[in-house]
Amino acid sequence: MTAIRPLVAGNWKMNGTSSALGELVALRDRLEKAPLPEVEVMVCPPATLLSRAASVLAETAIALGAQDCHPLPCGAHTGDISAEMLADAGATAVIVGHSERRIDHGETSETVNAKARAAYRAGLTAIVCIGETEEQHRDGETVDVLTSQIQGSVPEDAQGSNTVLAYEPVWAIGSGLTPTPEDVARLHGVIRETLGQVLGPDQGGATRILYGGSVKPSNAAELMSIPNVNGALVGGASLKASDFCEILAVYRSDSAT
Ligand code: PEP
Repeated sequence: MTAIRPLVAGNWKMNGTSSALGELVALRDRLEKAPLPEVEVMVCPPATLLSRAASVLAETAIALGAQDCHPLPCGAHTGDISAEMLADAGATAVIVGHSERRIDHGETSETVNAKARAAYRAGLTAIVCIGETEEQHRDGETVDVLTSQIQGSVPEDAQGSNTVLAYEPVWAIGSGLTPTPEDVARLHGVIRETLGQVLGPDQGGATRILYGGSVKPSNAAELMSIPNVNGALVGGASLKASDFCEILAVYRSDSAT
């Protein structure tokens, strides 16, 4: 099997107005000076910044992602944005099923599955998020929750080329807490196995599995070295180009920054 190229994606969430584009310029300039071919780098700003971010990132290796899409291509859905609109604004990927969408907006795995299929329809990569809550973690339900979220959220025809799975324990997001490396290894192993059952061994083996939840410069090296961790989805630490670059530096084979 060919080696998986890792992906580190920054999820800006509902953060950033025009002035935040300066961080994107800084990130672009840093990576232009010291390219990182070993890893795919992506930034997912709020929808209001997508077009301008696309201009900043034009002709660079930095990919642009969005944070959510509606399952339908168009229609009477005030405030929603379709995958086609995101592609038109310059995105090549979209996060679907982030726990903040599942919790704040009551999104089910069925909805997430429909959004992932909308992403494919528009030619976007779907970054499908899964993760257990603190209560489910405490009650020992993590494996059941992850398995059922994968079975429900990942379309059966998903491929490694158009789908990324992001495991984000809800209790680790923005809390400074992370699972132990042993737990990350065990759970990413379970996720790999389940993807193999849903998609078949080839596509299941080719799908990148990201870890997300309080990834920061101080823990990135350890987390990214764990088997079946093919990169990271980074929230808070992606807002500053300097922090994000420190995380990306984990993938540097030389010591340049
Ligand atoms: C996220 O919510 O996608 C995330 C990973 O957040 P943080 O890195 O801030 O925990």
